[in-house]
Amino acid sequence: MTKRVAIIGAGPSGLAQMRAFQSAAAKGAEIPEIVCFEKQSNWGGLWNYTWRTGLDKFGEPVHGSMYRYLWSNGPKEGLEFADYSFEEHFGKQIASYPPRAVLFDYIQGRVEKAGVRDWIRF
Ligand SMILES: Cc1cc2nc3c(=O)[nH]c(=O)nc-3n(C[C@H](O)[C@H](O)[C@H](O)COP(=O)(O)OP(=O)(O)OC[C@H]3O[C@@H](n4cnc5c(N)ncnc54)[C@H](O)[C@@H]3O)c2cc1C
Repeated sequence: MTKRVAIIGAGPSGLAQMRAFQSAAAKGAEIPEIVCFEKQSNWGGLWNYTWRTGLDKFGEPVHGSMYRYLWSNGPKEGLEFADYSFEEHFGKQIASYPPRAVLFDYIQGRVEKAGVRDWIRF
């Protein structure tokens, strides 16, 4: 029987797990059936910005504490995925300390390339 694995949350950690399973499958490994459950309406975890604070429209605690104009406090050279560079994503070199929206775009780019969005139930 095929094993079934649930991943809770499609933030950077959950997305990295899906990306790792997808990569293993692409190399011919047998992987379990994966379902990721994400309670927000989009992926990205804290990088999925919301202007809401306190409780959301369902009365649940708001997931994000990032602010709209946050800039990365770590250099991108220390945040880069080993298998998906900033240069591959943007097609050029970018500054070391990108703003939130740029990092969110980069995080999304890697999982869009992996094609794992269908594994997530929002
Ligand atoms: C203000 C601020 C600034 C930051 N700045 C930087 C920075 O400059 N550089 C940097 O590298 N990092 C930064 N970070 C840290 C970075 O955001 C986190 O390390 C990263 O988001 C952690 O990813 P995660 O997937 O573990 O968790 P999260 O991003 O928290 O994602 C968790 C996901 O799980 C979902 N979830 C939770 N519970 C459930 C449930 N029961 N069912 C379904 N889904 C659920 C949530 O909705 C969310 O989408 C910052 C964080 C904050 C708050």
